[in-house]
Amino acid sequence: MAETTGKTTISFFGAAGEVTGSRHLLEAKGKKILLDCGMFQGHRQESIEKNRSLPARPAELDAVLLSHAHIDHSGGLPLLVKKGLKANIYCTGATKELASIMLMDSARLQVADAKFFNKVHLSSGMRIEPLYNEDDARLTLTKFKACDFGAEAHLAGGTVSAKFLNAGHVLGSAMVQISVPVGGERRRLLYTGDLGRRASILMRSPEIPRDVDYLIMETTYGDRNHEPVDDAEARLEAIIKRAVAEKGKIIIPSFALERAQEIILILDKMRRSGAALDIPVYVDSPMTVSITELFNKYKDSFSFDERFKEYAKMDKDPFGFDYINYVRTKEESQALNETDGPMIIISASGMCEGGRVLHHLRNNIDKENTTILIVGYQAAGTLGRRLQDGANKVKIFGLEHDVAARVETMHFFSSHADKNDLIAFVKGLSRPPKKIFLVHGDTADRAAFAQTLKAEGINNTVLPDFGQSFDLE
Ligand SMILES: [Zn+2]
Repeated sequence: MAETTGKTTISFFGAAGEVTGSRHLLEAKGKKILLDCGMFQGHRQESIEKNRSLPARPAELDAVLLSHAHIDHSGGLPLLVKKGLKANIYCTGATKELASIMLMDSARLQVADAKFFNKVHLSSGMRIEPLYNEDDARLTLTKFKACDFGAEAHLAGGTVSAKFLNAGHVLGSAMVQISVPVGGERRRLLYTGDLGRRASILMRSPEIPRDVDYLIMETTYGDRNHEPVDDAEARLEAIIKRAVAEKGKIIIPSFALERAQEIILILDKMRRSGAALDIPVYVDSPMTVSITELFNKYKDSFSFDERFKEYAKMDKDPFGFDYINYVRTKEESQALNETDGPMIIISASGMCEGGRVLHHLRNNIDKENTTILIVGYQAAGTLGRRLQDGANKVKIFGLEHDVAARVETMHFFSSHADKNDLIAFVKGLSRPPKKIFLVHGDTADRAAFAQTLKAEGINNTVLPDFGQSFDLE
């Protein structure tokens, strides 16, 4: 469209009224630049269809800019490559390495899912092909071009230039600031990707850019505030003391990127400060182990908060590689079932929808001295949410189990800006943007955040629908 009209447009092909599948397409002077290519997650059939359709013909894209490694921002990239992407994928160095781990894992999951589906539907003859496989993911990794934070990259034959600014969300996460031609002039577009909190256990607070003309911002927590992180240690200490006294297991379902490392860092700090933690810790998820190794390698990264860097200077092993049991093999994982508590097991997936955590739950959920510690957002319909909501019985691998374990929730952890952080971000900009596109939030959260901004005197918000395009002026 932009090609024929000479207009500069931004179009939204995901995370528009939902939180997954971030995909935004910028078109200027016949060039096409894709901002993120995330995977849609949620109801199966709808997600399959959305994941299979792409926002543009991959061969026609001139550049892809990736804000961070989370699958809901990166998980569609291998399909883009499989379908003919020629252009480079630009991101920060840490994002490139994290995405290498996460996209390979995603490919293995796609293949395993398709295999399982085809086996179950063998008699009906229904078959699905995996969205992509490990070869596609491997080829995708060759297209990544790492950029330093703050360095200017000239893209699409010099039509646009882009800079990655710290977003404070996860290791390597960036906002993308783009200078784009509009008529004979240039405009500055800022895409926040996912924004972090102003105060976090690990991450540097998000940068506040200047002179933004068009802002595309996330609103995951557009209507909620988090609890302050400072109280987390005391809560965790009480839970651990009880488990030690009762010789119980503490099972922590955790996302592999960021959440697990935050918990590990808190445990490390408690150990250092002498808070008697006579309890073995197991990190039982191969992806979490790989990602934690990357965190350790990137200890000096620009992404991290200065307080963490100071701590890492004093404690050369902030992720406890010398005393935490990092479990990779299936055999070591299974051996934990035969081992008595007390112990802490940090395992994935974060919402108990798959992975090794299910085995630990299956083996321990009927014991009164077990604690299931929820440390992350649990989407409706997941096992984690049912446990959090106090279910007495749950099904795991199709078999019913009584829930005798205590289920505790700690709300301190989030790698997303909350409502107050988001407001502070917008008000911190050097001048109000011409338009603020609210994305990456469900319909209610985005609408509430638009109202909040309105009350602050900021009226120029737009809530784009899926597939909607806007001309930049
Ligand atoms: Zn994210």
